[in-house]
Amino acid sequence: MDTSRSHDLFTRAQALMPGGVNSPVRAFKSVGGEPFFTQRADGAYLFDVDGNRYIDYVGSWGPMIVGHNHPQVLDAVIATARDGLSFGTPNPLEVTMAETITRLIPSCEMVRMVNSGTEATLSAIRLARGATGRARIVKFEGCYHGHGDSFLVKAGSGALTFGVPTSPGVPKALADLTLTLPYNDIEAAEKLFDEHGDDIAALIIEPVVGNANCLPPRAGFLQQLRELCTQHGALLIFDEVMTGFRVALGGAQARYGVAPDLSTFGKVIGGGMPVGAYGGRRELMQQIAPAGPIYQAGTLSGNPVAMAAGLAMLDLVQAPGFYDALEAKTNALCDGLEAAARDAGVAFSTQRVGGMFGLFFSAEKVDTYAQAVACDSARFNRFFHAMLERGVFLAPSAFEAGFMSSAHAQAEIDATVAAAREAFAEIAAG
Ligand code: PMP
Repeated sequence: MDTSRSHDLFTRAQALMPGGVNSPVRAFKSVGGEPFFTQRADGAYLFDVDGNRYIDYVGSWGPMIVGHNHPQVLDAVIATARDGLSFGTPNPLEVTMAETITRLIPSCEMVRMVNSGTEATLSAIRLARGATGRARIVKFEGCYHGHGDSFLVKAGSGALTFGVPTSPGVPKALADLTLTLPYNDIEAAEKLFDEHGDDIAALIIEPVVGNANCLPPRAGFLQQLRELCTQHGALLIFDEVMTGFRVALGGAQARYGVAPDLSTFGKVIGGGMPVGAYGGRRELMQQIAPAGPIYQAGTLSGNPVAMAAGLAMLDLVQAPGFYDALEAKTNALCDGLEAAARDAGVAFSTQRVGGMFGLFFSAEKVDTYAQAVACDSARFNRFFHAMLERGVFLAPSAFEAGFMSSAHAQAEIDATVAAAREAFAEIAAG
């Protein structure tokens, strides 16, 4: 496979941008090697600058749920752009978007559009802190909520210690306010709330973790967190930046039947344009400026072109049977990969929820962060490159979920499984 143009671009990029990229995971640091540069994308495929074609299971990290370059999304973007790119005044598409989100996500009685998932989560915890008058937040190990200071925190040594920064530049005093819990461990959560419940403004969680591979919640886990938060007067925030409109039309909250106080959304509702949103109960959202005193703003928020792209995509995913079909494809892919691994004698398992999935080099089913970390990452990295050489682009990290789109047909799934048979055989050969 010729990748010389990508290589030249990456050489130039590294001199000009940190790591040669504008977002770290794109640099292939965890899997090794160099990233390819995409020239264009269509349906289930990416095409790189050297003319190579890849079946894409990254989907721009989630948003391309109807595939790349969907004509309906593209037409909406082009038609809207002809009327101007940004107005700095309210525009009608923002109202339609707010109506659509509040209709599809009933726990969101009101919504505020922002420009990224990071902005959505930052704003949601400011609102939680402002509304409760409390400072502490709780997050789960392995969950990613964007690059806000309060989220770049890991557990200190020993259970129930206060958080420590995972990045220079995050003040220790702020990290102290973030408490970290193991995902899918309700006893640890109960213990933490027993000790600190009265100081906790909010607990934020990826209801299905997509940033530590793909970890579904154990039966009752989300419900029990809901009860704990209610009992202690803390707000429950579902970060549905990945799961929203992906694991079900109504997101993880619909799939698992748990209503959070606040929800955050991101890339998925932009259909590929830079978008995020947060929403929740009316009396909470009414505290946001200018209706209330808690400040949050954005020059480009509610951008008409981004709204048009998102609305066109949200229209498509509301087609009857859309999520059943998406889930069937995810299952077909994961079943096929498991069978291929079994035949090659490679210890391997998957997780799948709606249109997202996880690949684990482990014989057991994985649903905790500790198990995800214990998987054979060297094998994952070999698998990643063996698949890439065969024209299949998986997330370039063992700690990221994979994403299915409605543009993936049986032919792409069959081709992926055929490539995986060869890749697993290579791995088994050592
Ligand atoms: N929350 C979750 C669950 C995410 O997966 C991400 C990004 N992958 C974010 C927040 C941050 O979103 P963004 O990159 O748009 O800032």
